[in-house]
Amino acid sequence: MAAIHLSSPVAALYGIGPSAEEKLAKLGIETIYDLITYIPRRYNDWNNAGDFYDARDGMEITFRAHVATKPEVNVRSRTRPVSFYLSDGFKRIKVTFFNSSYIARKFAVGDECFVHGKVTMFAGKPQMVNPYIENASKINPDELVKPVYPLTEGVTSNNLSRWVRTALDLCGSELLNVIPQEVVQAEGFVAPSECYRMIHFPKDMAEADRARRQIAYEELILLGIGMKIAGSDTTVTEKAERVVPPPGSALNEDIKTRWNKIISNLGFKLTDDQAKAVREIQMDLMKDTPMNRLVQGDVGSGKTVVAILAMAMTALMGKQSVLLAPTSVLASQHYNTAVKLLEGSGINVVLLLGKTKQSVKKEIKEKMRQGEAAVIIGTHALLSDNVEFDDLALVIADEQHRFGVKQREKLLIKQGASGEVNSVHNLVMTATPIPRTLAMVLYGDMATSIIKQKPAGRQTIKTWFVDSRTSPDITDVLKSKLEAGEQAYIVCAKIDDEHMEPDDGYRMTPDVDESEIISVVQMKEMIDKTGLSGRYTTETLYGSMNEAAKLDVMERFVKGEVKILISTTVIEVGVDNPNANVMVIMDADRFGLSTLHQLRGRIGRGSSKSFCLLVSESRSELALQRIKMMCESSDGFELAQKDLELRGPGDFFGTRQHGIPSLRAANLYTDIAIASEACEAVNKVFEEKTEEASVLYNAIASMFELRFGRKMGSL
Ligand code: ADP
Ligand code: MG
Repeated sequence: MAAIHLSSPVAALYGIGPSAEEKLAKLGIETIYDLITYIPRRYNDWNNAGDFYDARDGMEITFRAHVATKPEVNVRSRTRPVSFYLSDGFKRIKVTFFNSSYIARKFAVGDECFVHGKVTMFAGKPQMVNPYIENASKINPDELVKPVYPLTEGVTSNNLSRWVRTALDLCGSELLNVIPQEVVQAEGFVAPSECYRMIHFPKDMAEADRARRQIAYEELILLGIGMKIAGSDTTVTEKAERVVPPPGSALNEDIKTRWNKIISNLGFKLTDDQAKAVREIQMDLMKDTPMNRLVQGDVGSGKTVVAILAMAMTALMGKQSVLLAPTSVLASQHYNTAVKLLEGSGINVVLLLGKTKQSVKKEIKEKMRQGEAAVIIGTHALLSDNVEFDDLALVIADEQHRFGVKQREKLLIKQGASGEVNSVHNLVMTATPIPRTLAMVLYGDMATSIIKQKPAGRQTIKTWFVDSRTSPDITDVLKSKLEAGEQAYIVCAKIDDEHMEPDDGYRMTPDVDESEIISVVQMKEMIDKTGLSGRYTTETLYGSMNEAAKLDVMERFVKGEVKILISTTVIEVGVDNPNANVMVIMDADRFGLSTLHQLRGRIGRGSSKSFCLLVSESRSELALQRIKMMCESSDGFELAQKDLELRGPGDFFGTRQHGIPSLRAANLYTDIAIASEACEAVNKVFEEKTEEASVLYNAIASMFELRFGRKMGSL
């Protein structure tokens, strides 16, 4: 048998066949390392099993009880539910299991069990449906803390526990320590293999917490230092070409006139924040050092306009610029905006997508090579194709992933006429309000422009909570908007019966039965039944559709042909259709605050009154609090702050917005102090060139490769 290493595929592990491999891949687990570092979302702590005395409707509880009545299978029902009563000696609670007839064989009267789940009150009596239940006699008294993992269909927490144990036994010793010795001692940290044993199989919750803290350190060091190490072979230089003549030099009158014409043709007045950002960019472009600027602006604040003006400025100076968008839908949209805004300016705008026809591609590339195309917009396809430029001076990344930097580097370096190497000016746009300290970790030393104001004339979006999927409010609001000639978004958390839109581990209520979530397909059927789709063209949109079909639906929606768009969160990023002024978000409890905010940012872009309906049947207090916040605030910065307050330490953080892979133990907001402390400690070791330095450097480099390497390469 071949030796197993951390980098081996999970299938190398005994007991993991092709089917399990596929399921694990859905959870982002591909290697043994991924498996070991896949940490529990929470624990069932049987040490602290309570009772169900004060159980209220919707409450999640953990308790110990015995089976009081013989499990009965209801043979008349198609799903063959199994029911019985549990008792703690005084009170009884009814438990029912659907699609799990084996339960009837597994439990007998008198059996002691541990139970965890949500209580529902029925006619004044507590009951539970499909709770987590375990026979107490089967539990090792040393293992009273049971890990619960984020799961997918067909993989249980018990499966994962077993595999993790084997993986740790075989490869745990290959895990390298990336934390400086000084910190390890001060914090009382343990060897990495021991730490991962503690997080998966803690003796008690205190042990789990200690392990989580150590893993947070580890992750933040990998992120903060590993990223720099991984990018350290860069040849980016401190020199760049001036694009705009420095202050004091005479500017060609013709260029001035053309610039003023572009500004007056915008059709609106720039907000003060936009104007300031444009000025800051202009100043950067006057320097002979490369611009490295982050434009941060809430959704709908008008970042795209700023980007296009920066490109126009560059074009007027006779140089080329590139705008990279994360999806072809967005790239096409930016292209249309650029064409519109730059109409009559004489600036040549081109669009290059992965799916662009070969012959057209060839033509566009030729124009880029000869300098005829000045404003170049596209997806990352631009990076993989062998493109050549005549005089590229500026690269802009929209909603860009920090992780794309390495790929982007290709564009950011250029050979000067006399053979010298120059850097190209670099601008990154993000819709996420990132605290300054966090931006430092993620982006390093970037200058920041913040766009806080919204364009004038925007109406606030009225947001309200609807507590039932079948509420007539939903159809009423849709109808009134559609009758007024406007368009509507409906967002669902799931595509069809089987498929969740892949996310990066950020599931707000992972315990809910996923079959309860309404899917895009079901929603379409519901809308069909209301008769709305008969009168108003209704289309569905989700991530796994092919690019051409997606673009087609989006284009028809933006043109106004499609009236109702039922989609997953694929529309979250950047889509702009000012005529769509109502959004219904189904199962709103499934989404985090920042996702909800991004989604809602798709409406309220025109002058008509906008409505956002947050539909949820959840009774989770946390979910309801989030929904309440959404109803009360529309300020992304404020919501981000509140989001923080709601999240406990170690909670999964929705890092997708930041374009970085989700962290497992660390919380980028609350652990930010740890982040700078940890990175400083590492840098100190490096600077002082202690004996430890090279060991630590190599450990960080190789663990970084295991943790983020594959993801970096795939972008
Ligand atoms: P962002 O990318 O920041 O989410 P966009 O750049 O897509 O926002 O702009 C959102 C909408 O607002 C677009 O339709 C754009 O044309 C419009 N817009 C941008 N700036 C202004 C402004 N200063 N005044 C009026 N409308 C604006
Ligand atoms: Mg945008």
